[in-house]
Amino acid sequence: MLRVAIDGPGGTGKSSIAKMVAERFGLEYIDTGAMYRSIALKTIRENISPDDEAAISEMLGTTTIDFSNGQIFLDGEAVEKFIRTNEVSMAASNVSRHACVRAKVDALSKYIASVRNVIMEGRDIGTAVIPDAEVKIFMTAAPEVRAQRRYDQMIAAGKTADYDEIFRDIQQRDYQDTHRDLNPLRQADDAVLLDTSDLTIEQNINAIADIISEKCGDISCDGPKSEDMQ
Ligand code: C5P
Repeated sequence: MLRVAIDGPGGTGKSSIAKMVAERFGLEYIDTGAMYRSIALKTIRENISPDDEAAISEMLGTTTIDFSNGQIFLDGEAVEKFIRTNEVSMAASNVSRHACVRAKVDALSKYIASVRNVIMEGRDIGTAVIPDAEVKIFMTAAPEVRAQRRYDQMIAAGKTADYDEIFRDIQQRDYQDTHRDLNPLRQADDAVLLDTSDLTIEQNINAIADIISEKCGDISCDGPKSEDMQ
């Protein structure tokens, strides 16, 4: 098995980098944040308060989350285009503190990681979802850099964006994600720390590829090696 766990706060470039590394190493890319976002989307659509754990738990009883061909499905609907708004980001951070929500996402994430070679990213992959992952990386970047990246992405996508609002949201989500009781965001003891503040995308991908090759050389993972993939 080759399971690469990538954790870190929002805006470090985890998703885009992990996708490209997945391609290079022939791994399946799994974005656990998308699962929390999908659950958050449903609470917004159903007008359920993120504080109402009982209502969320009931809602989850009739909710299916699925990954197929790298796409996230909520109750059979492809929801990627609805889950990247600021509203859903904040709602995801709010609902992800509940045990019922974490149990739902954990069960699916753990199952996927038990049957496929994956690069899985989120907040608690190295600490809770795949604590025995062959490779663990904790990505970080200064909050100003992360806010600027988000801002640039939104502008490039033709959306309106307010840097100060993005910066505030990033700080609030960082706080919530690191201070919740259940599996808060933290670096696993055996994770490699990668500060991406001054790295280009290419440098970032190469840094992760190097970590994977180095680790897998050491522990002889059964997964495909980078030289087989290039
Ligand atoms: O990574 P992304 O920004 O899409 O995650 C959205 C939210 O989902 C995070 O702010 C966090 O609260 C939650 N999350 C989590 N555990 C994960 C992945 C995401 O709590 N493994």
